[in-house]
Amino acid sequence: MGVPDRVTGHRGEPTLKAPLSKQRGLLDVQELDFRTDQLAQRRRTLPELEEIGRLQEERAEAQGALVEARAEVEDLSREQRKADADVEQVKARRVRNQQRLDQGQVSSPKELEALQQEVESLERRIGTLEDEELEVMENLEHAQEQVTEFQSSIEALDASITDAEKRRDEAFAEIDRDAEEARAERDRIASGLSDDLLALYEKIRGSHGGVGAAALVRGRCGGCRLEINPADLSRMTLAAEDEVLRCDECTRILVRTAESGV
Ligand SMILES: [Zn+2]
Repeated sequence: MGVPDRVTGHRGEPTLKAPLSKQRGLLDVQELDFRTDQLAQRRRTLPELEEIGRLQEERAEAQGALVEARAEVEDLSREQRKADADVEQVKARRVRNQQRLDQGQVSSPKELEALQQEVESLERRIGTLEDEELEVMENLEHAQEQVTEFQSSIEALDASITDAEKRRDEAFAEIDRDAEEARAERDRIASGLSDDLLALYEKIRGSHGGVGAAALVRGRCGGCRLEINPADLSRMTLAAEDEVLRCDECTRILVRTAESGV
């Protein structure tokens, strides 16, 4: 007398048969697939990726600040040239007036007084303009310092980015090597398993968080961790070795191992 289908077949699906050794091979495939998934996850969430993103944002900010500081230097340089020219112009006028006074070209007392007053006024104007010029020069110096500062920041950030990219590429290479190894081993084992067993495994794996097959461990499903109820467990105990069991809770393929307790 056979075991009722509802134990091994699942919710109307036909019962699948595979030698127990192949079912256990499926657990190896599962482990290697899980390893590959973990490696892919590690590749996606590598801390260096976040680090590089953050550094590039900082670099973009520094670059923006550098462009602004350079524009500021240009503006202030223009202002400085204008201030220089203004001072020179007023000084030239003062020199001309002074020469007229020195050479005694002005004889009328009224005109002489007016000229002397203008010279004094020009002196004051020169003083004001020179103060303004000094302020522009100080601002210009500050802006130039900022340009240098942002340039060094960018250089330092570029060095950090290069370093992080190097570490990222090293980690990628290691992950890819491990993944390639896992894939090759997985394919080797999978090539010895039947297509329908693999197809069922892939189908469940696709909809159950990457886990399609689990070991039955001491009366518990290794996939959902739930305890198999005593009635199902006793039916599983009676099931033929080559019958592919399914967890009634999570539908995963349940593989009997030496530790299964059945
Ligand atoms: Zn389960």
